[in-house]
Amino acid sequence: MTTDDSLLDRLAPVLTGLTVAGLAVALVDRFLLTLPPGNATAGLAVAYLAGGVPSALTALRELWSERKLDIDLLMVIAALAAAGVGAPLEGAVLLALFSLSSTLEHRAMGKARRAVEALMALRPQSALRRNADGTTEDVPIADLRRGDTVILRPGARVPVDGVVIEGEGSIDESSITGESVPVHKRPGAKAHEATVNLNAILSLRVERPVSDSTVARMIALVTEAQSMKAPSERFSDWFGQRYTVAVLVGSILFFLFFVRIGLDMDDALYRAATLLVAASPCAVVISVPAAILSALSAAARGGVLFKGGAALETLADVRSFAFDKTGTLTTGRAELTGLVALDGSGEEDILALLAGIEMHSEHPIADAIRRAAQDRSLTPAAVAEVTNTPSEGLTGSDGLGTVWAGNLRLAARMGADIGHSALAGLQDGAQTVVYVGRGNRLLGAATVADRPRDSSYDGLQALRASGMGRLVMMTGDRRPVAERIGRDLGLQQGEIHADLLPGDKVRLVAALSEQGRVAFVGDGVNDSAALARADVGIAMGVAGSEVALQAAEVALMSDNMERLAAAHRLSRRTARIIRQNLTFALGAMMVLVVGGLFFDLPLPLAVLGHEGGTVLVVLNGLRLLFDPIRHPARH
Ligand code: ADP
Ligand code: MG
Repeated sequence: MTTDDSLLDRLAPVLTGLTVAGLAVALVDRFLLTLPPGNATAGLAVAYLAGGVPSALTALRELWSERKLDIDLLMVIAALAAAGVGAPLEGAVLLALFSLSSTLEHRAMGKARRAVEALMALRPQSALRRNADGTTEDVPIADLRRGDTVILRPGARVPVDGVVIEGEGSIDESSITGESVPVHKRPGAKAHEATVNLNAILSLRVERPVSDSTVARMIALVTEAQSMKAPSERFSDWFGQRYTVAVLVGSILFFLFFVRIGLDMDDALYRAATLLVAASPCAVVISVPAAILSALSAAARGGVLFKGGAALETLADVRSFAFDKTGTLTTGRAELTGLVALDGSGEEDILALLAGIEMHSEHPIADAIRRAAQDRSLTPAAVAEVTNTPSEGLTGSDGLGTVWAGNLRLAARMGADIGHSALAGLQDGAQTVVYVGRGNRLLGAATVADRPRDSSYDGLQALRASGMGRLVMMTGDRRPVAERIGRDLGLQQGEIHADLLPGDKVRLVAALSEQGRVAFVGDGVNDSAALARADVGIAMGVAGSEVALQAAEVALMSDNMERLAAAHRLSRRTARIIRQNLTFALGAMMVLVVGGLFFDLPLPLAVLGHEGGTVLVVLNGLRLLFDPIRHPARH
């Protein structure tokens, strides 16, 4: 089809209008009343020029620069052939319908394609920055730096990603997550670019410049992957190319054949032109992208970003889903539930040290500890050179020596004795325990509890209802915690895997993949290998870590697990519509070709069948644009 030449795109409706008008004049002259001489010819000339020349030019350019034979060229050749054998009106009908359907098609596809780019428009131009001397100033958002303070008035859009530091109020995040219910934000909460501050005055500390903020990341995700075409899309591209050449050559051969069996030249040319139109694969070529683009766009509006059509198509075939626990099935907003200080140190000292270490982590546990310290107005200890061992914890140095915070595995590695009687109660509770120590000495421990997301139960239930083979939980957390959460979510005992290192998750995903395609859903650094290993990696888009996002093929901007189930349903529906479209397009083409070969099909009918079929498959694909991914079915 024609390339995205923006000037031609903008002119397309005008050209189509001219073509149809020219054709109308000629039709009136032929069938209604005889117009003054010359009018009909002028009308036809306009139709041919406006309908044929632009497509011919783009097609020739494509042929010249990319050595690709565009289907548009076939249409122009057929129209010229019709004119050549004294049937210019038929040729004009062909050009008018062709021009009309490709303009509609472009419009529709453009709509589907622009879903994410539309976000760009949501960016405010400027923001109110509070300077160090207390004055405020309107600055372009490109000038905002990490650490700046921005004042948000009610109704203002959040200019860049940041953290609320003052004020309390609701933010409408629907532009990013697709969730229509506003989210209440207190100091410490993250605010995402392009969301809307509804009713309060909030101060925001800038966390990321605009070039790294949410919208830029979403756009990067989607555009980076546009080359990742779905297998069916590759098929229809390939087919379109080969087949177009075959149709051209075939029509010439049939022309020679018709002449050979005694038809006169004009008749033979007319029938060859009819065949050319009948056999052109426009509908086949457009049927897959029409469905995929619509689905990608519907998903994006619902807060699910696919990196290209391939991921969408693979998701439709997935047999089992594996989930990370912390931050994925659970809220990622854990709470500190207990604190034990050993050897005479005070609880506050322990918490301050913990907070100092956890300052350097994005983990939900770290977040809980930082918030707890903040609530008690503690100043986090100064800890430097912090390194993170995924699924274990953190080590660093506070000037006096090595300090660390993490799970049993880390404590054991540091040589700490965790047999202290004050800790006995902690270890069999169904809570996550974070040990904190200095060198090989255990200083204390904190317990942290997280709870399932409100949407996790229903989301899993919906996946189960769609006949998912297996739903599995994989976590680096301890077994009692894993089982408590797993039970709440209705997972089977055998499907709960605990105490895993990142490599164990990869191995488990690999084992699952022997029974069919696997999707892995995760948020953390420790999930990135499993995300990459799975057939479809799905990352928590807003709350998750950057590494996870990069390893994944799908990003859940909304942390609503029901959206995940809805996206899965959408992918299956897309696969079904693609099958329908391909079957229909190939079938219709066959019927038309048989008609052209054996039944003397008139050219206008071939044109009607061909263009009608193309429009039908596009419309069928566009149905996906209205898929209710925003409003998952209630259970
Ligand atoms: P999940 O696989 O459920 O997302 P993780 O693999 O991220 O969990 O974490 C597993 C365990 O490792 C946690 O339960 C915790 O004990 C420990 N851990 C990981 N990161 C940290 C951290 N920043 N601070 C303390 N403990 C941590
Ligand atoms: Mg996690």
